Amino acid sequence: MLIDVYTIVLLFFVGLIAGYVSIIVALKLPLKKKEYINVCDNCNHKYKWYELIPLFSFLMNRGVCPYCKTKLSIGYFILNFISGLLFSFAYIFYGFSYEMIVVILLTLLAVMIYVSDFKYYVILDEALIFFSLLILLFKAIFFGFKTFLISLCSGLLIFVFMLIIRFIGNKAFKQDSLGGGDIKLSMFFGFVLGVRLSIISLVIGSFLAFPIAVYYSLSKIDKEIPFGPFLMTGLFLVFVFMEPIKSFLSIIF
Ligand SMILES: [Zn+2]
Repeated sequence: MLIDVYTIVLLFFVGLIAGYVSIIVALKLPLKKKEYINVCDNCNHKYKWYELIPLFSFLMNRGVCPYCKTKLSIGYFILNFISGLLFSFAYIFYGFSYEMIVVILLTLLAVMIYVSDFKYYVILDEALIFFSLLILLFKAIFFGFKTFLISLCSGLLIFVFMLIIRFIGNKAFKQDSLGGGDIKLSMFFGFVLGVRLSIISLVIGSFLAFPIAVYYSLSKIDKEIPFGPFLMTGLFLVFVFMEPIKSFLSIIF
């Protein structure tokens, strides 16, 4: 497979722009505001075009709004940079392929979930529907109708499975054990990975969130844990290391 340096660089910049748009959508959509990309949340000042360039504008303004000097989180800068990197890596590792497309789509959805779940404790339905449709569409294009149908059923099965887990959890702990957003996100896992690997990625995601849960309870922080980012990281890991995980599973079962 021939890897072209220009494509790597181009994809990095495409990733920066797409990641930037994803961050903005995840920040603004839950607020249901009319003004979208080009307005400061704090002072409502309209940004000029050069104040909206990914990474560059952040550095130029030293991480604050140029009008009201409100600090912008460095987290967004890092997320944006990573989205560029992951677009390039997707191409370096997979070339132009189904896997490359999935890594790119997962990157964008992960960016949105990191932003919206940490900031507002929501996973946007619009984002889940959009990316689910895209994943299913690419399954149909690359693997045909049968795979599309299997993926669709896998997602629905995981959805029902998680509803049952929530029902049991609610009865056992007498409180809401799983957020609705997390259950809908699990359905997306089913579309991407099928039933077996989805369950593994959900388990890995829960393990990743575990240290935070321990930290919160030890330091008596009475805050909800945004579960979505951890689940999404689990999904990412399982997708990237799918082959070793599959061979490991075939040894055990
Ligand atoms: Zn401002």
